Amino acid sequence: MVEKELSSMHDFTGKLLQPSTRPVVLEYLTWRRAVRAAAAAGEAPPALPEIGPISINLDLTTACNYACDHCIDWEALNIAVRHEEEELRASIVELKKRGLQSVILLGGGEPTLYPGFGNFVRFLKGMDLQVAVVTNGSRNELIAEVADCFTKGDWVRLSLDSAEDETFQAMHHPKGRGIHLDEICERAGAIKAKNADVSLGYSFVITWQGSEREAGASVVENLGEMAAAAKRAKDAGFDYISFKPFLTRAEDGAEVMNPSQAQREHERLVSDIRSGVDAAMELDCDTFRVVESINLRVFLDGSWENYRRQPGVCHMQALRQVLSPLGVFNCPAHRGVAKARIGDKASWSDASAMTGTAKLLNTFDASQECAEVTCLYHSVNHFLEGIVSAGGPLEVLLPEMDQNLDTFL
Ligand code: SF4
Repeated sequence: MVEKELSSMHDFTGKLLQPSTRPVVLEYLTWRRAVRAAAAAGEAPPALPEIGPISINLDLTTACNYACDHCIDWEALNIAVRHEEEELRASIVELKKRGLQSVILLGGGEPTLYPGFGNFVRFLKGMDLQVAVVTNGSRNELIAEVADCFTKGDWVRLSLDSAEDETFQAMHHPKGRGIHLDEICERAGAIKAKNADVSLGYSFVITWQGSEREAGASVVENLGEMAAAAKRAKDAGFDYISFKPFLTRAEDGAEVMNPSQAQREHERLVSDIRSGVDAAMELDCDTFRVVESINLRVFLDGSWENYRRQPGVCHMQALRQVLSPLGVFNCPAHRGVAKARIGDKASWSDASAMTGTAKLLNTFDASQECAEVTCLYHSVNHFLEGIVSAGGPLEVLLPEMDQNLDTFL
């Protein structure tokens, strides 16, 4: 199997070997070995450890003021479920006690639409957590207002997916007052101006003719705007642009790559995307990075189907979870899907989510349930499974790395 050299933001194994994260991983692996030993001996499982995920995706709201044609969370948008702030804060406090280190605000809605967005970000930073925000860019002023509390390693990434406003409008359908790409990029600059430590990203999901969010819901092609988007991002003062391939949902709700939808032949599609990446790469320099996601790299080199072979147990579901108004889920690739539900939205406030996590670790067969998913966590999951299965001292098998990566998973 071909392993790719990863940008640090995608080096999930490295992130788990840092001095700050490794103790939680060691405790998790010790417990998992004990669970297997007990099962083999026909004994009762050991007590649950006092740990939780190191990193969460926190969906603050399902509300969204766009109607993006390529939105993976389309069916969960603007529904009548919401967090109770007190309950949500109690969950974060409990998670922090159990080793939580980072929170990514994103998913299923636009985080800045959450009432009290700024206060909540300040609450998270007051808990000494790393914080990242994925936003559609329509309310950058709210992020700029709290930018002073971000610290080095925190990031804000705007989902823009275009270089021309015409394409931006056709893909995103912003609602309400006029929202245009020029203004969004200009206002993004205010975030950096307030705090240069915030890493500012321009996200570009590559779409092509023939791709569909669901049957009959076609997606506007932006493939020809990759290099121009990189130039726009660099000129506007972003720190990086990141490219990802379009994903759709399989019938069971999992997020999957489906290049067979393309109207071009596969080789032609790969070559067109490769050309776009190469042209964008010419702008890569010390102050502006062009980043290919793992999904995109394996898509372009043809190894993407290898990344659909998961071990039976997904260990990452214990170390990184999704907390949304719909409940707690084991993975961003199964956000909102019933079989991936660990507990209700308050289940970390009283730690009952640990019982749900233990249950799913035993019942969710990732080799089957994720057989269609090109999984970003493929390599780290096999690495962890190797350690659980192998005999020998964990301290040796899980070496501590003296490195300084973020803890976003
Ligand atoms: S194997 Fe990958 S896609 Fe499946 S639950 Fe785990 S991290 Fe998610």
